[in-house]
Amino acid sequence: MPRLGVIGWPVAHSRSPSMFRAAFDACGLTDWTYQRLPLAPELFEQTVRALGASGFAGANVTIPHKQAALAIADRASEAAAAIGAANTLTFNSDGSIEAENTDAPGLIAALDRSPAGMSALVLGAGGSARAAVWALLGAGAAAVSVWNRTPERAASLAAELGAQAVSEPIEADLLVNCTSVGLQRSASELAALNQLRLTADQVGRYPYVVDLVYNDQPTPLLSVASAHGARTVDGLDVLVAQGVLSFEAWTGLPAPLDAMRRGAREA
Ligand code: NAP
Repeated sequence: MPRLGVIGWPVAHSRSPSMFRAAFDACGLTDWTYQRLPLAPELFEQTVRALGASGFAGANVTIPHKQAALAIADRASEAAAAIGAANTLTFNSDGSIEAENTDAPGLIAALDRSPAGMSALVLGAGGSARAAVWALLGAGAAAVSVWNRTPERAASLAAELGAQAVSEPIEADLLVNCTSVGLQRSASELAALNQLRLTADQVGRYPYVVDLVYNDQPTPLLSVASAHGARTVDGLDVLVAQGVLSFEAWTGLPAPLDAMRRGAREA
């Protein structure tokens, strides 16, 4: 019985179990299981090292463990090493651990047009922003700028990955929110945009807007962007796209995209 799971702290909100179970059903993988693995940071290393021997074929990794996931691996993909974080671990039968970052290719796969030649503004300087900047530059974006609430973090991310830090959000062909703003459903649109140093009019100038944050309702950013006629991609589309890549790496099967979308949205 191959076991999979998602490691996080907290992890109760994760839609990955529902998304992966829908995929197993669609592919007839009746003996595969996928579970939440709530794991405090101090227990990460000893617990993850034991997962392979406990029947786990792999695990997705979310906040706050993505850097620790890279550090524990015996082998890391070029993407995970360059980004400095991993969201997918594979446990091999010889006891070794492989690390991959599917957040980066997942973002590009979730876009319905190539970012090649586009200017892009990434909001945030955490783990997902690092993956987004690396992915967009790798996909041929003409210029990638980074704004973050704490400017020093934007400056060091930009310097490391070859982007440009900006002190205020600037206009661009593509806006990607990689902050956690919008996660709290109680925040008003205005309050959320304020946290991103944006007005509704400014949001209306971005023709293409991606928000990595997801919850039951459209986020304030996507709601304002849609009202202005922008093309939008929500966080669930990105979640599914990165999940597809993890599923294919672990099972060797083509991922059932529609089933995974349904599983993620119905969770
Ligand atoms: P992270 O490493 O903790 O980074 C959080 C970022 O949000 C930092 O840049 C932080 O700025 C900024 N931030 C937090 N509160 C803010 C506020 N009130 N105003 C302005 N900026 C604020 O988190 P992460 O892993 O990058 O994830 C970020 C979000 O993306 C999370 O909501 C996560 O759930 C989501 N995500 C979604 C997917 C997906 O597949 N859809 C994948 C990965 C992540 P400072 O540096 O100033 O603190």
